[in-house]
Amino acid sequence: MLTVEEALRLVEQHAVCLAAQPVPFGQAAGLVLAQDVVSDIDSPPHNKSMMDGYAVVSHDQSEVRHVIEEIAAGDVPRQAVTLGNASRIMTGAPLPDGADCVVPVEQSESVGGNLVRFGMVELRAGQNVLPKGTSAKVGDVVLSEETRLRPIDIAILAEVGCSTVNAIPRPRVAVLATGNELVPVDERPASGQIRNSNGPLIVAAAQAAGAEAIDLGIARDNHASLREHMRSGLTADVLVLSGGVSAGKYDLVPQVLTELGVVQIFHKVSLRPGKPLWFGLREEGNRRTLVFGLPGNPVSSFVCFELFARPAIAALSGRGFVGLTVVHAKLNHDYDHSGGRAACVPAIVKPAEMALATDPLPHLDILSWHGSADLATLARANALACLPAESRRFQAGDGLDAYLI
Ligand code: AMP
Ligand code: MG
Repeated sequence: MLTVEEALRLVEQHAVCLAAQPVPFGQAAGLVLAQDVVSDIDSPPHNKSMMDGYAVVSHDQSEVRHVIEEIAAGDVPRQAVTLGNASRIMTGAPLPDGADCVVPVEQSESVGGNLVRFGMVELRAGQNVLPKGTSAKVGDVVLSEETRLRPIDIAILAEVGCSTVNAIPRPRVAVLATGNELVPVDERPASGQIRNSNGPLIVAAAQAAGAEAIDLGIARDNHASLREHMRSGLTADVLVLSGGVSAGKYDLVPQVLTELGVVQIFHKVSLRPGKPLWFGLREEGNRRTLVFGLPGNPVSSFVCFELFARPAIAALSGRGFVGLTVVHAKLNHDYDHSGGRAACVPAIVKPAEMALATDPLPHLDILSWHGSADLATLARANALACLPAESRRFQAGDGLDAYLI
């Protein structure tokens, strides 16, 4: 049986970055740029007032000044400011010719008519003015290829007029739950039935991993139903199935996938929970679909999705084969690990006591849990502690890696 590392390398080899395509800029947050973005304007486009106040000549020694014009944001100044004069100016408005600084309104006093006086303020050229082109000039590269766009970068795209960008699209991840026992969330299970929790779990996890998720609902444990549902899933970049990959009589998923032309890359990994994990690839023309068959038990489904499908989604998105964040933590208690397979078990990581420089590692509590169907304990965890394939008696204070979930 493959180790987790061997299985991960196989997934990585097949998780190829998607081709870039034009994306409306407002839908591009989280995507990776496939082009440099160049400014088509100077920003700001004019010497810009950073305050509500008066635009004046800094070396003007006049006691009082005549207010000759009012300039709001969006206005174009019509009059040059000369000695003895000032223009009332609002934040964002262009500085008029002649003026080289802005006195904030709070430091001014109206002395009747159109006259204004300033307190004992020392004026400096450039004060409260952002010069034209300070943040970008025409032709500057404001965002470079391979940047993962954050909300602030969407603002930059807007500022420089880039309404469509070439970017790696969100991978389309189709999600299919399988099982005769499953009913949808809005139905009350009859005897022998349970609600489909894995489908919604995987949809949410795929979205959290940056994918566009497509919920295909529930397929039954027979060839016709599986085939019909899988066919539409195989038009996506990734198809994630839950259930039907173990050794039961009705675990038909690998067989039907193979019939539909999906080539098995591996089946079974030395991991607890998650041993029955199935992974394959379908290539047709230039369409590639990665297929993950996750074991049906909810904790197994979750662990396998986070360990194997999440980094694949990142790689398809142009972010590299990067999975969950790993922290090194200090075990809070003794723990007997029976070994046999590498294990990922629900745990709680607490930040280190900041005050204790001698104890910089976060602390880790492994939760007592009831195995791979125990969704409730998983939901109390914020980490998966990584345990080795060998049996080992851990002691309080031992170091362990944990994935943050
Ligand atoms: P399987 O991998 O199909 O043998 O399923 C293993 C266990 O997981 C069984 O107890 C199933 O009832 C349960 N299970 C399978 N699919 C789901 C699902 N979509 N939601 C919740 N539990 C499931
Ligand atoms: Mg099943």
